[in-house]
Amino acid sequence: MTRITDRDLPFGLATRAVHAGQEPDPLAGAVTQPIFQTSTYVQDGLGRNKGYDYARTVNPTRQALERNVAALENGAHGFAFASGMAAIHAVLTLLSAGDHVVCGENVYGGTHRLMDRVLSRLGLTFSFVDTREADTATRAVGPQTRMLFVETPTNPLMRLADLAALGAMAADRGLLFVVDNTFATPVFQRPFDFGADVVLHSTTKYLNGHSDMVGGIVVVRRDDLAERLAFIQKSVGAVPGPFDCWLALRGTKTLPLRMRRHDENARRIAEWLAHDRRVQAVHYPGLPSHPQHELACRQMRGFGGMLAIETGSLERARRVVERTRLFALAESLGGVESLIGHPASMTHATVPPAMREAMGLTDGLVRLSVGIEDPEDLIADLDQALTRLGAHG
Ligand SMILES: *Cc1c(COP(=O)(O)O)cnc(C)c1O
Repeated sequence: MTRITDRDLPFGLATRAVHAGQEPDPLAGAVTQPIFQTSTYVQDGLGRNKGYDYARTVNPTRQALERNVAALENGAHGFAFASGMAAIHAVLTLLSAGDHVVCGENVYGGTHRLMDRVLSRLGLTFSFVDTREADTATRAVGPQTRMLFVETPTNPLMRLADLAALGAMAADRGLLFVVDNTFATPVFQRPFDFGADVVLHSTTKYLNGHSDMVGGIVVVRRDDLAERLAFIQKSVGAVPGPFDCWLALRGTKTLPLRMRRHDENARRIAEWLAHDRRVQAVHYPGLPSHPQHELACRQMRGFGGMLAIETGSLERARRVVERTRLFALAESLGGVESLIGHPASMTHATVPPAMREAMGLTDGLVRLSVGIEDPEDLIADLDQALTRLGAHG
């Protein structure tokens, strides 16, 4: 189990991003955390070691990443995993057969698939609900409900959940409140401030930020949850290798800088698109026209780099995503380079079509992960991709 030290806590976010969890290496004084590429550690004698026995259980490079992200989230304990999905799986195995989970209907497609196609076979039950209104989630709570799982903003429709209202409800009903904070990152949203019990990330996205590894992390404040997660982490063994931890750790050092730029660029692009007749709708919480803009201003410090546009049809969406040059057509998000995607056929292809339709995830929807390039270049790229599309009907 990895606990951040008290000295990590008094600093601001940018300082923590650079320093938390990292001491200069005692051997040579290396300023960056070494990559401890080892499976095991020499023991001083029977039952005597330096706190490290086997690398599935504990690795100093992984520990540095866990402490760093725990400090960024204002949490106490971090647990790194081999992917975001492995992190979500670990959190769900805090539950037992017969337990019920209330989950946002617009969560990451892989999260929905894990719940609906894998864990439901093992005796967990799930209700997928629109978490824009806390009351809708409250109505889904039954006697077996143990967990409330939400994403905000959601992928790709950028809908918000009211963290304070849901946190109060979860506390009232004794539910474990889990927030996937991948989209907002701790730079723009700190779910522990609103009563979350567990905050998790796909570190593949903004935390690493350079599209060169896959990973996940879970952060908690409570010691009892930390003890159980440490047990699950070592028992299941879905741990990341030290090099991937090192990459993620290098990524988090610049997280506050990068997020500010993602946010600036996305705001400019969203405002530009909002006035463009070739686009039917722009989903971005930073736009005053977003139906939950006021909530976004209340619970977020910025709006992030993700937005979605409604082009009107599959054919129009296809033309846009195949015509951009800087925005690369690819799955994933949160890297320094801009990406474009078609949720209905890519990230959300596993969500049943009827459910996609019911929540407004249309075939004409196009998702943008706005990178940190020059905004003028990004706008010019989208402009040429939208050319000849014509104003929608
Ligand atoms: C990508 C993503 C995940 C899954 O993470 P992986 O690292 O791809 O396993 C979970 N939640 C959200 C919001 C994501 O964007």
